[in-house]
Amino acid sequence: MIKGRQLYELQEVDLEIEAKGEALARVESRLGEREALDEARAALSRERERLAELEKTQRLGEGEMEDLRAKTALLEGKLYSGSVRNPKELTSLQEQVEHLKKRRRGQEDHLLDIMTEVEAVQHSVNSKSRELERMEENWRQEQNSLSREQAELRAALATVEQRRKELIVRIDSVSLELYQMLRVKRQGRAVAKVERGMCQGCRIVLPMTELQRARMGEEIVQCSSCERILYVS
Ligand SMILES: [Zn+2]
Repeated sequence: MIKGRQLYELQEVDLEIEAKGEALARVESRLGEREALDEARAALSRERERLAELEKTQRLGEGEMEDLRAKTALLEGKLYSGSVRNPKELTSLQEQVEHLKKRRRGQEDHLLDIMTEVEAVQHSVNSKSRELERMEENWRQEQNSLSREQAELRAALATVEQRRKELIVRIDSVSLELYQMLRVKRQGRAVAKVERGMCQGCRIVLPMTELQRARMGEEIVQCSSCERILYVS
């Protein structure tokens, strides 16, 4: 029974459990995450509201234009009908018609500005809407692949966890306790391989007696420098 090797195998399994657990946590934190999508949707909705406001302003402006046109036509009709003969009244009528025409020109300019803005905002709504569709499609694809990844990682984790159970029943409790203690102390790496007479945990050249004892594998031998359990493969 080579204790070093068993503990080394356990460490491999524990490192794999840790890595897979972290990967699973990363995947799960992204599952259902739709902040960017919600932001894009809210931005589109704000732009649509702005467009509706502008279109309303445009309709009001057009209505006002129509009123001015009708009033002008009415006064012009009166002016050219010959029914008004009084020079003062005629002058006053002419002035009113001029004033109305001036207002119409002003209103026309105002309307043109609004129509230009409506067109620009309409354009922006269209492009934002296409962008949102694209984002939603990407999001669906990403979520599908994340779900698959989650299922794969869960299955893989179950397999290594089963392997861990099988391993620890074969390890005595004293060795296991030492392993756990060193694991905490040495960031998950309680066991170090020995290669070319060197502890791979701290890179020190091991004393010959230590090396021989580790090679026998009958007892647990710890590195005299970093305390890690030595494993000679
Ligand atoms: Zn060492």
